Amino acid sequence: MPADSALESFEDYVKTLYPNYTAFHQATRDVAEDVIPYLLENDDKDGIEILKYLAQPDRVIDFRVDWRNDQNQTETHRGFRVQYNNALGPYKGGLRFSDSVDLDVLFFLGFEQCFKNALTGLPLGGAKGGANFNPHGRSDEEIRRFCQAFITELARHIGPSTDIPAGDIGVGSREIAFMFDHYKSITGRFESALTGKSPAFGGSCGRQEATGYGAVYFTEEILAHHNDSLKDKRCCISGAGNVALHTAEKLIELEAQVLTLSDRGGTAVFAKGLNHKTLTKIQRGKAQRQSLQEICAKLDIEYHDEQKPWQQACDLAFACATQNELGERDAQRLIDNGCRYVIEGANMPNTDGALKLFAKQSIVVAPGKAANAGGVAVSGLEISQNRSMMPWDIDRVDEELRKIMKDIHNNCVKYGEHKGKVNYIKGANIAAFKQLSEAMTLYGKV
Ligand code: GLU
Repeated sequence: MPADSALESFEDYVKTLYPNYTAFHQATRDVAEDVIPYLLENDDKDGIEILKYLAQPDRVIDFRVDWRNDQNQTETHRGFRVQYNNALGPYKGGLRFSDSVDLDVLFFLGFEQCFKNALTGLPLGGAKGGANFNPHGRSDEEIRRFCQAFITELARHIGPSTDIPAGDIGVGSREIAFMFDHYKSITGRFESALTGKSPAFGGSCGRQEATGYGAVYFTEEILAHHNDSLKDKRCCISGAGNVALHTAEKLIELEAQVLTLSDRGGTAVFAKGLNHKTLTKIQRGKAQRQSLQEICAKLDIEYHDEQKPWQQACDLAFACATQNELGERDAQRLIDNGCRYVIEGANMPNTDGALKLFAKQSIVVAPGKAANAGGVAVSGLEISQNRSMMPWDIDRVDEELRKIMKDIHNNCVKYGEHKGKVNYIKGANIAAFKQLSEAMTLYGKV
């Protein structure tokens, strides 16, 4: 069967199962576009069956979250956990609190997580969860009550060898602390059922920084592979959350020039490059829940309302905000402005149109499932430390993180190199698929 019709029939299969899940269609198609031709070249019919198997999650938990706000009124939100696949290890992946959360988004993120976790080489299955709750503007006490109500429902479905959630957008160390404390009270057990905990109560040092630092380590590997380095490179970053700020921190340390950060309201521009002192002030402001715009006003930083960060001339773009944030027009601007590398700190931040343009111009794109795997990788190291009751120091965590990112890079090269050029998207998709398919074949799934 030619690759085009095999891909079409796979897409039909997914669309028949989940007609309205457009983000999920995008994520599964992106993988199938690389994996199906590879399977056909290798005459691997079972592989197609495994891909179809992976187009459905194992289990979807969908629950009601009732909680009381500061006005003593009951509010109701929807909580979810998509336990996607546990072929490689216990379900593992973050919780997202955002008004954009629905099952389509969680299916796509759960699917991506399986591939990302496979790339880390650690025994981790894939899952994703969260709630359609926007934490913005809520008091600490409201967040605490919401987290307690949420985990009261979820607690019966998670555990150290079943499913181990962590944070994601809207869920940081504060929320993990509230949930972990309540999980402990409900179950009476102090165990590794959540990661991203503070080192004060069993978390790993370096976990907070891991996604951003890992993305930069991955970028260093890409540049080294192209006989280049980060020194003096002009970098545009989108986002101002945990991933974006730690990406900026590591880039500054490695003497790259950070030109932008952004949030929903617009873009902060650092014409001469962001320095460590200003970054620390921004981090402090964010920790106090101020918006980037408020922080910029206070610190007298140039801030452009409603502008995206992709207007600046740069060498590298780090998309660290959210899915489909970078569209065709943004991609064209980046290309026109000389950008050569696009690193996905977020999950699926590039639209299909943007990716097509980048491919046409031979712009190197590091896919999220590889570039942002550092977060879940250090979550895996946290589980290891919890199980052995032995915390590691930061040097050990950092060394392991670097090694994991290097291995992911080399695996992408192994499966993505063709005539001296590396297609990192293809490499990541095939490397992860092979890992998953080997386990599933041994289980006798096909
Ligand atoms: N939410 C992060 C991700 O997208 C981390 C997940 C985890 O640590 O389990 O990979």
